[in-house]
Amino acid sequence: MMLELDSVTHRYDDQPAVEDISFGVEAGELVAVLGPSGCGKTTLVQAIAGHVRPSEGRVRLRGDDVTTDPPEARDVGLVFQEPTLFPHMTVGENVAYGLGPAGVTDPERQVSEYLDLVALDERRSLRPDELSGGQKRRVELARALAPEPDLLLLDEPLSALDRQLREQLRDEISRIHSETGVTTLFVTHDQEEAMALADRLVVMNEGSVAAVGAPRALYERPPNLFVAEFLGRSNTITVDVTGDRAAVELGGTTRQLADESQASPDRAVCHLRPRDLTLESESTAAAVSLSGHVRSVSDLGRRYEVTVELACGDEVVVEQRTEPPAVGDAVRVEASADALSVFTKNGVRLTH
Ligand code: ATP
Repeated sequence: MMLELDSVTHRYDDQPAVEDISFGVEAGELVAVLGPSGCGKTTLVQAIAGHVRPSEGRVRLRGDDVTTDPPEARDVGLVFQEPTLFPHMTVGENVAYGLGPAGVTDPERQVSEYLDLVALDERRSLRPDELSGGQKRRVELARALAPEPDLLLLDEPLSALDRQLREQLRDEISRIHSETGVTTLFVTHDQEEAMALADRLVVMNEGSVAAVGAPRALYERPPNLFVAEFLGRSNTITVDVTGDRAAVELGGTTRQLADESQASPDRAVCHLRPRDLTLESESTAAAVSLSGHVRSVSDLGRRYEVTVELACGDEVVVEQRTEPPAVGDAVRVEASADALSVFTKNGVRLTH
């Protein structure tokens, strides 16, 4: 493990910003910490970088306990959301600054090598205000990487950029990561960014870890409703729990619940992704088939989003690429049994 967090808690004035956070990042991995604004991502980054001393818990780098070490004693490169280049220094001087006063045998070579990595070596004598927003970000990446840190911490590095640039730089970070192999912790509130980049995700909610796992696995089998809803478009339908409180029935499919004791509340939440639903004019052999009427249709260019009011009164969104039905049409909303997950009202997963 390159980085280990062991029950890290941090409080500001007795208010916990992060609570009991434990996870590890293996050497060479790119892990994304993903969560909504205010869930404690920056506090966690600061605890790893050494700018915040956790109220409880330990931070280990390469197995060494660095919890109380100052930032400069940790081998960590940092890129923040806001640009932090020195305006009076050239690109080359900014990157050289990242190498610090400590003896690097050949600072020139290292500056060139890392400016080359971000394809900016020919701009090394320009000043930051002569660069575009994306180029500035790349210089900051070069500055953070030039000292060849054990760990690269990227705290929302793309949030301030427009969508197109964000996507370009996302690919650039992915390329740089595979070329350098540097262990990277990438912090973001953007689930698409996190899923596109990361080997593994740490999903945070209100200061705690909601899930850790591979992006696709968490998307397809979310361990709780928060993760299900945060990682992608979601429909939820609340149903009665039947069969001695051990099963739910939805559109002709009965799902046994994993833990009967958790099902003791008499209602449960069925979860279906818009992309896993199809619209039919008549019932087919699909496991889940619900009747409803089309309420509205949005044409998003590459796909349509059709909102259907079900007979039970709930609304669901269906994504499809083919010509949609008209508003007011009677339709069947259908899905395979696999597409259906069931949670308690508090979000605990009830299906295997
Ligand atoms: P954002 O994405 O909006 O930056 P975040 O997920 O990075 O949010 P943090 O900035 O770590 O979250 O904040 C977590 C909680 O701690 C919030 O409730 C915030 O108000 C609080 N907090 C953060 N920094 C301080 C501070 N210096 N003093 C007091 N409270 C703080």
